[in-house]
Amino acid sequence: MAKTLCDWSKKDLERHADQLYELTHQPTHFCRKCARVANCKRVLCKGSTFAAAGVKMPVPFHAGDKTPAVEDDPNRMVA
Ligand SMILES: [Zn+2]
Repeated sequence: MAKTLCDWSKKDLERHADQLYELTHQPTHFCRKCARVANCKRVLCKGSTFAAAGVKMPVPFHAGDKTPAVEDDPNRMVA
């Protein structure tokens, strides 16, 4: 699978919609090249924060927080 969301193929999007949701809910970053959004920089090819661009975020977020917003749980049941 592609390294950044910017490079995900249609098949990636179809197969990994759950992962896409986890990476894009409550987005704090956006891609300056392709306008995609995410809650971490590493999945964007030209990642930048909304805060750095002067956007006032509706919910407080921690720019220095390196812990993943959502834990990957392979045993998670999907309803
Ligand atoms: Zn991009």
